[in-house]
This record gives sequence, C-alpha cells and structure tokens, in this order.
Amino acid sequence: MKKRNLPLGNPALVTTILEHAIEGILLTNRFGVIEQVNAAFLAMTGYKQEEVVGKTPDHLYGESFDSAFFRDLLATLVDEHYWEGEVWNRKKNGEAYLEKLRVAAIREPSGRVVGYLAIITDITAHRNYEARIQHELHHDPLTGLVNRIHFIEKITDALKLAKETKEKLAVLVLDLDRFKGINESFGSAVGDVILQRVAEGLTGTVGPECTVARLGGDEFAILLPCVKNEKEVIKTVSSILHHFEQPMVLEGNELFLTVSVGLSLYPYDGSDPESLMNHADSAMYQAMEISGSSYQFYTADMNRKAVEQVKLESSLRKALERQELIVYYQPQVDLQTGKVIGTEALIRWQHPELGLLSPTSFIPIAEETGFIIPIGEWILRSACEQTKAWQLAGYPPIRVAVNLSSRQFQQEHLLETVTRVLSQTSLEPHFLELEITESIAMNNVNHVIDTLHRLKSLGVTLAIDDFGTGYSSLSYLSRFPINNLKIDRSFVSNFTSSHDDATIVKAIISLAKGLNLYVTAEGVETSQQVEFLRKLHCNKVQGYLYSEPLSAAEFEAKFLQAARW
Ligand code: C2E
Ligand code: MG
Ligand code: MG
Repeated sequence: MKKRNLPLGNPALVTTILEHAIEGILLTNRFGVIEQVNAAFLAMTGYKQEEVVGKTPDHLYGESFDSAFFRDLLATLVDEHYWEGEVWNRKKNGEAYLEKLRVAAIREPSGRVVGYLAIITDITAHRNYEARIQHELHHDPLTGLVNRIHFIEKITDALKLAKETKEKLAVLVLDLDRFKGINESFGSAVGDVILQRVAEGLTGTVGPECTVARLGGDEFAILLPCVKNEKEVIKTVSSILHHFEQPMVLEGNELFLTVSVGLSLYPYDGSDPESLMNHADSAMYQAMEISGSSYQFYTADMNRKAVEQVKLESSLRKALERQELIVYYQPQVDLQTGKVIGTEALIRWQHPELGLLSPTSFIPIAEETGFIIPIGEWILRSACEQTKAWQLAGYPPIRVAVNLSSRQFQQEHLLETVTRVLSQTSLEPHFLELEITESIAMNNVNHVIDTLHRLKSLGVTLAIDDFGTGYSSLSYLSRFPINNLKIDRSFVSNFTSSHDDATIVKAIISLAKGLNLYVTAEGVETSQQVEFLRKLHCNKVQGYLYSEPLSAAEFEAKFLQAARW
C-alpha cells in the first residue's frame, strides 16, 4: 500500500495495523475526503485504491446513497465523535452487501478533529445465516410450510386481532386417512412426495390470508383468520375435501387420498391457541372414526373422549404387572378333515372399570407408546407356554398363531426374543406361527425378507395376515419365505353376496396355490361360506361359525377335551 501522510501520530505503526487488519478500514481527513484505505477494504468492495482515495465516501454508495442518512451520521459524529450502525452498500460490481460500519472522529489532544476512521465489516453472510436459522426454526423442512411452533404464534397474533375486531377465527387440524399404510407399502420416499403435494394442494386451495402448517407426520393444520360465520368455514372445508377428490398422479399411477378434518372456533371452543388446537385435534379424531373424508366441529363431548383415551394410556402402563391382560384362543379348522389343527392367540384386556376390552381399542395405543414390546413378548410367552402345557396334558398337538405388530416386527431383538421364548417354554418351533400384516410386509421389503428368512430358520412358520387389505406387490410376495396367507375377513364375510368379493377370494386362493402357500380364510360365519371355500380348495378356516375366541380353559374344554380319542 502506498504510504501517505496520515492525520495520526506514528505513520509506520498505523500502516502496519491497516495492512494486517481483517476488517475494512478507511481514513479520511477532517473534510471527509478519503486519504487511505487498507487491503481488506479493497478486497471487500472490489475497488482499486486510486478509485477511492481523494473522493468522499458518498461516492462509494452509488444508488444506495441516502443524503439524509449521511447528514444524520455527520451530525452524530460532530456531537458524539462516534457512530455505528448497519448499512446496505454496493460493491464495485453492483452486488449489494450489508456492512457493519463504525466511524470515529480522530482528534488532537486539544480536541480538534483532524480526520475520521471508519471500520467496515461485511455481515451479509452472517445476516443470511441468521435469516436461514430463523426460517428453519419456523418451517417444516420437507414441505416448507410453517411448523407447529410458528403456527401457534400465528394463532396468538390472529387471536389478538380477533379480540379487537370482535371477529371469529377457525383452526382446522387435518390428518390423511390410511397414510401410515401407504407409507409402509410404498416406502417413505414416496410418502414424502405425497406430503409435499398435499402441502401444495392445501396452500393452493385456501386463500392467501390463511396459514397452512405441517404439525408433523401426516398431520396438517390451517388457520382461518377473520371469519364471519360457520358457513364461511364450511365453504373452505368443502373446497379442501373437494380438492382431495381428484386423484394424485404419482409416476403414472393414480392415488386417491382422503382426509379427516377437525375444527374449532374462537370464541366458542377456546380463547387461547392450546385449547383451540387440542379441541380441533379431538374433533379430527372423531371425524376419522366416523369415516374418511369428513369433517367435524368440536363438541364438549369429544373432550371427554380424549380424556378417556389418555386415562386408558396410563392404565395400560400398569396392565401387565397387574395381570389384567388375557390371551384368548380361536380355533383354526382344517377344511379337509374338519379337525381343529391350530389356534390363534388373541389378546384381551380385563380393565378394572371398563370391562373386557378388545385389542382394537388398546393395541394402537400400545404401538404408539412402545408398550407393545413388553406386551408382545408376554403374549408370545403365554401362548407358547399354554400350547406346550396342552401338549404335556396329552392333547393332540396344535399349532398356535401369534400376531406381531409393526413395531414388534421392526425391533432389533425380535429374533432373540422368539428364540428365548421358544427355549424357555420348550415349545418345538414348528408349533409356532407368526402373523404379520400385509402392510408391515410391504414396508422396506428387503429388510422384511431378511428378517422373515431369519425367523424361518428358527423353524417357526410364517403367515401374512389380513391379506387383500394392503397394497401387496405380487412380485414381492413370491420372494417372502412365508407358509400361509390369511384372507381378510372383509372379503370372506361378503363373498356369498358380492360378486367382486367372490372374485377376489378366488383370485387370492389361486395365487396362493401358485406360490405353494397354505390359505386360511378368516371370519367364516356361515356353512354356505365353508362350502364355497372348500370348493376352491382353501386349506383352513377360522370364524364365529366354529367359535369366537375363548379363554384358555374354555378352549380346552370345548375343542381339546372333545378331540381326545
Ligand atoms: P386379526 O389377527 O386379523 O384377528 C382376527 C380378528 O377377527 C379377531 O378380532 C377375531 O376375534 C375376529 N374374528 C374372528 N372370526 C370372526 C368372525 O367370524 N366374524 C367376525 N366379525 N370377527 C371374527 P380381535 O380378537 O378383536 O382382534 C382384532 C385384531 O387385533 C387382530 O386381527 C390383530 O390384528 C390384533 N390383535 C389381536 N391380538 C393381538 C396380539 O396379541 N398382538 C398384536 N400385535 N395384535 C393383536
Ligand atoms: Mg391375526
Ligand atoms: Mg386378520
């Protein structure tokens, strides 16, 4: 850097500082004419020394020069001898950058101002980073929609306004019906694309004044501010449901999605974000239960149900140790011989207040909370122990089928658990059949095939449960090392009256035969169904025609003692 006379004490020291400083430094005389700049300043702005020295700084600001701003800056410098702030500036190539500018007056000991020193830091990257972090904190990375935290802030703001203007507002919580099954069947990459499309669809359907959020998983929420009446809300919900009536085209395939919507309204259902969200959530669960593709406004009765659900969850924690869980057994009959050759273990919960509960009311909670792991192991052990005890009592040996839930199937220690239980109960492995549902089987197929092979190598048999309800790819089915296909009850119960269901049952049976698999029909309730299934060479049947699931003692009395020679 060329040496010049500086309005400061030791010129050599000043020059050294200037050359080594990381921040841009600019020195002017007392009239504001630039006398010296350092290398960092030139690198930051792209100017050459001769382009700036001898000029006043306002020349550097080009279009962004604001004379009022510089007048203020100078006035502050005169009064206080120091100014700092953030200023948008332009580099020589026109690129805008945000600088942190600190300007100090340089004074002689007498107090006379002899020049000005400006220190300049480029903080554009830092500001962009901060803005990105702020965005990430408030948005869902997959869909770009606002997240739960920001959504609650939006409701808080909208509530303030609604309280002032005496208007209403609505909170909608939406959940995609059967999304878990779709995600498990097609894989999470496709699931992600679906969620992105849903996000776009919702944003496009509601007006720009509304906020669309993704709360997590397949749950979305919408805030409708400044609502006049319920009719207006219903109009928006109808357009959302209508939007979902159009199929989503994914890689050339049409996918029909439906959505359940729960609604809460300020001021009727709450006056803070939490209660509006909770109540819309309860209403959404109600909509889901009634049917897919529907909406529900919140009612106080729903809150009672939600509280019951939470209670059920906390009492399920204790159900195992309080010995409230019971395994029931339903016979499986060989269609050729008419003999009971197996049994399916089906769990029940003897709830101290609510009575005997069906697994459909608590298995989903057990899955969600993870209790399914200890509960599942307990069921497996009880069923194996009981089956072995029947053998030791001298009854003709039967095979016991045990259901595995999705979470159990994915747990790391499944193989060790099954091995340990078989060895502890001394049940020979071929008397145990493990049932997994079709949707579990289609999730992460290679991993599933590997796990099934390893289970099979233990000597147990394997069945696909509720077949026909998922999205099985037939090519995968042939790669699964399974023994048995269980046709879902929904097809069996209708096939004598429904031509379509009869066609499906026939197709499943011939598919199973082609793949050398056994076929079990679930939910057989009439002898007409038995005759039809026999003609199709179905192997096994299970259903109320023979018996509902029974306690171990009842099952033994009714089916095992009767079968003793
Ligand atoms: P699933 O494995 O498909 O079991 C068959 C269900 O159909 C049983 O209901 C059984 O009682 C019912 N069922 C059998 N025959 C008939 C019939 O003729 N008509 C009608 N209407 N229903 C019939 P349940 O015991 O309520 O079990 C429901 C589901 O809960 C089971 O479906 C299974 O997915 C799950 N589940 C039951 N026990 C367990 C368990 O120990 N572990 C796990 N993970 N899931 C279980
Ligand atoms: Mg089953
Ligand atoms: Mg089933």
